[in-house]
Amino acid sequence: MSRDPQRAASQFFGGRACLDFANTVDWRTSDNPQELIPDYATFLAWSVRRGTMSSRAAARLKALADADTAAAATTMDSVLSLRAEISKIADALRDHRAADLTAVNAMIGQTPPQPSLLKREPAYLHDLRGDDLKEPLWPLLWSLTAVLTSTDATRIGCCQATGCGWFYVDESPNRTRLWCSSEVCGNRERVRRAYAGRNKGKPQRKRAASRP
Ligand SMILES: [Zn+2]
Repeated sequence: MSRDPQRAASQFFGGRACLDFANTVDWRTSDNPQELIPDYATFLAWSVRRGTMSSRAAARLKALADADTAAAATTMDSVLSLRAEISKIADALRDHRAADLTAVNAMIGQTPPQPSLLKREPAYLHDLRGDDLKEPLWPLLWSLTAVLTSTDATRIGCCQATGCGWFYVDESPNRTRLWCSSEVCGNRERVRRAYAGRNKGKPQRKRAASRP
């Protein structure tokens, strides 16, 4: 499964930070999912790009992680657990099933009150201090809380392209969104289907000829 440069450039199609975080497994539903945040430093860089953390706080956390690589590795266990939980919840919601929030509720119980907000074009972000390795997880939990307590919870969709598996909040008026991105998955899938349609019913000459 090839990776499109547009996807690797970390474009965010989920519409909510928690879903974009779930989408850090590329080709999630394929036979060959790709890990986009293999370590803590990459997770920090992703958090800054996604706008859930200031670069100043991320730089402080990077220094902490470099000084205690074992603690950073342990934190990555929590990062990957939260991501797996968000994916399970999103899958449940789009299937109109009740989501199991046991693990996420336990994590929410360990987060501090939300800090004040900083202006960051084009929006705002939490003014995290950069002194706890788990900090980048907190905005993702707050984002998930906002999704679950709003009509977003009824609008979770998943890209229909084979193997993609990326989630989004479907904000189209009639809830008809099919793709994470029309330009990326939509175009590729339209080409694939057109090709499959053209070849439908054509005999597979070589295989037929080689059979006894
Ligand atoms: Zn897609």
